[in-house]
Amino acid sequence: MLTCKEVSTLVSESLDHSLPLRQRMGVRFHLMMCSMCRTYKKQTLQLRDAMRTYARREPTEHLSKEARQRIKNALKTDGK
Ligand SMILES: [Zn+2]
Repeated sequence: MLTCKEVSTLVSESLDHSLPLRQRMGVRFHLMMCSMCRTYKKQTLQLRDAMRTYARREPTEHLSKEARQRIKNALKTDGK
């Protein structure tokens, strides 16, 4: 059986590329037995999804509507 350290490494690797069947089966077997690694995998996937959502958002989405308006106004009056 794979160790928790090996599984955590393989879970991370599986985000970048699919693992060979033997490793996938090893990870799956380990995850059935180990709740710590299941939690690790779940959190890793949640983090990846959060990063994807963050990367896809509009560049100015983190600013409030008011802040965007203030910047627009400042740009309009700039250079006059
Ligand atoms: Zn484990």
